[in-house]
Amino acid sequence: MSPLCFVYGTQHCGATRKRYDAAVSLVRILYVGGPTAVIEIGPWRLITDPTFDPPGKRYFFGWGTASRKLHGPAVEFSKLAPIDAVLLSHDHHADNLDRTGRELLPQMGAVVTTEAGARRLGAGARGLAPWGTTVLEADGRPPIEITATPSRHGPPGSGPIVGQVIGFSLKWEGQLHGSLWLSGDTVLFGGVRDVARRIRVSTAVLNLGGVTFPWLSGPLRYTLNADEAIELCREIDPRSIVPLHFEGWKHFREPRDTAIREFAASPFRDRIHWLARGATIEVEV
Ligand SMILES: [Zn+2]
Repeated sequence: MSPLCFVYGTQHCGATRKRYDAAVSLVRILYVGGPTAVIEIGPWRLITDPTFDPPGKRYFFGWGTASRKLHGPAVEFSKLAPIDAVLLSHDHHADNLDRTGRELLPQMGAVVTTEAGARRLGAGARGLAPWGTTVLEADGRPPIEITATPSRHGPPGSGPIVGQVIGFSLKWEGQLHGSLWLSGDTVLFGGVRDVARRIRVSTAVLNLGGVTFPWLSGPLRYTLNADEAIELCREIDPRSIVPLHFEGWKHFREPRDTAIREFAASPFRDRIHWLARGATIEVEV
C-alpha cells in the first residue's frame, strides 16, 4: 500500500466535509460492492453505478445472457446518503443498476449517464456522448467538470448489441497530479487508449471482472481482466489504481485472487489498492 493511502472504517466517511477548503486534493473512495462506490470530493458525495439489491436473484442481460448476484451491498444506502450525483456508466444492465439502485435514483441528485440512458431514465438525467462534458455546480462548492470517455463493453462490433456505455474523467480545482478517471465497463480498445493520449490521469478506477458468457461467445470478454488492465495502466500510468466490478456476480469470471496475483507481479503492485467491501481509501489526486 502506498504511504499516501489510508484505509478507514465507514463510520468516518463524513470527515472530509469538515476539513474541506477551496482546493481539494484528497478524495475518499468507499467500496460498497460490485461496481458501486461512493467518492467524496470535498463536500461532494458521488456514487458510481448504484447496486443495492440483496444477493441470490438471477438477472437477464439480453441475448440469452444471465447471471446471479452473489453479494449484497456492504453498506445500506441510508448510511451513504446524502448523495449529490450518480456516475452511471450504463443503465441497462442489472449488475450496474439493479432494481433497488433504480428505485433510489430520485434520492441521489444529478444522474450523469449515456445519451441513450438519459432518454430511458428521463427525470433530468444528463446524457453524454464520449468526450461530452457537464459540470456539477452548487453554492459554496468547487465545480466538478465531468467528461465522458469511450467504453466498449464487449468484442469489436458489439457496441450496437451491447448498447452505450461511458466512463468518466473528473476534474476540479486543487488536483495535484491529474484527473480521477473511471473506466466504466469496457475492454481494452482504441477508445480507452485515447484516454491515455488525451487525459493526464492521477487515479484510475477500473471495472475488472473478466466477464465472459461462454455458451454465447466463448472466450470473448465484455470487461477488462487484470492482464488487459495492466496493459492499459502501462499507457495511462496512473498514480493510484482502485479496482471495482471484480466480485459479487457469477459472470465475473476472473477470480479476485487471480487479479490480485497478476497485479502483484506487475509494475503497478504498489499503486493498486484492493479494498475490502465496506472499506474506504483516501487517495491524493
Ligand atoms: Zn454492463
